[in-house]
Amino acid sequence: MSYRPYQQILRRKSRQIRVGRVRVGGDAPISVQTMTNTPTEDVQATIAQIRRCEEAGADIVRVSVPTPESTAALRQIVRAVEVPIVADIHFHYRRAIEAAEAGAACLRINPGNIGSKERVREVVKAARDHGCSIRIGVNAGSLERHLLEKYGEPNPEALVESALWHAAHLQEEDFHEFKISVKASDVFLAVAAYQQLAEACDHPLHIGITEAGGRRTGTVKSAIGLGSLLWAGIGDTLRVSLSAEPEEEVRVGWELLKSLGLRHRGVRIVSCPSCARQGFDVIGTVAALEERLAHIEQPITLSIIGCVVNGPGEALMTDLGVTGGGAGTHMVYRAGRTDHTVKGEAMVEHIVALVEAKAAEMAAAQAAAAAAGARKQAAE
Ligand code: SF4
Repeated sequence: MSYRPYQQILRRKSRQIRVGRVRVGGDAPISVQTMTNTPTEDVQATIAQIRRCEEAGADIVRVSVPTPESTAALRQIVRAVEVPIVADIHFHYRRAIEAAEAGAACLRINPGNIGSKERVREVVKAARDHGCSIRIGVNAGSLERHLLEKYGEPNPEALVESALWHAAHLQEEDFHEFKISVKASDVFLAVAAYQQLAEACDHPLHIGITEAGGRRTGTVKSAIGLGSLLWAGIGDTLRVSLSAEPEEEVRVGWELLKSLGLRHRGVRIVSCPSCARQGFDVIGTVAALEERLAHIEQPITLSIIGCVVNGPGEALMTDLGVTGGGAGTHMVYRAGRTDHTVKGEAMVEHIVALVEAKAAEMAAAQAAAAAAGARKQAAE
């Protein structure tokens, strides 16, 4: 994809860590995370949910491990899935050690909350021994009492001070493989806290608006909060928190990155809102295509425009396009040029076939390039 100067986003320079095979920070692509909501002890249900998230494009999945039974289940879960798993721990340092031993790629734990220096040392040792990174996860709803007393309320300064206080516990142990989040459900508070934290350190940042709400409310709030941060170059990995299934969080996360041109995956549909001029049912067609094309991983742009007012112009900027015409016959564009016509009743099937063919072509080209790269490496 080529960028115009006004589309450039300059990312904050952060150090890079690893969450299993996924790089986070530095020049790594911004990763999309979600969290399971099945009981972790229910291994099969949790694996099934993680696989659905993988299909939706999750790079990293977090799983809560509040009990010894759940860290035992984690061992089976991490072996059955592809994505790296972050074990979510709050206060129980033993769970952190068990989770590291069970194969978690990252531990979400706030070291300042787990008690003595000795305990912090033990958790850090387990993380080191098992190649785990750590996420410090500060939340406005659970700020330390000494900070609430100092600041009177959860404000950006308190969130940042909490994050740096927890970070100091790890730095004292010479452990630097960590990322930080400072989440709040208030968009202004979360954004201001992340802006200040981004200035105060070079650790990779996990961004999110916590308890954002249901599908619609949470998507809008996250788009405002995360969108502002990403646009300003802040954020190395993200989670959209919705009171909805985790796959939906992943889809919204991707839409955010796609909208800002930060990452591309799957079909991006450009469609008009429709009006009396539409040559076909734009709303129904787009809904059907979103569902039918959800499995496509290759980055393809598709314009679905109801009439010639905007159709040809939008098609110029997309890989495939359709513009509604008269008498139930519509124009199909490839790479911005008129190509052929299609009848209304055959349109959805026809577009699905075109997109699938384009995706297969792109996948074959990628595989050929990868094979050529491997041959070159072997010859060197
Ligand atoms: S592109 Fe045509 S059908 Fe779509 S909203 Fe605009 S005028 Fe209406």
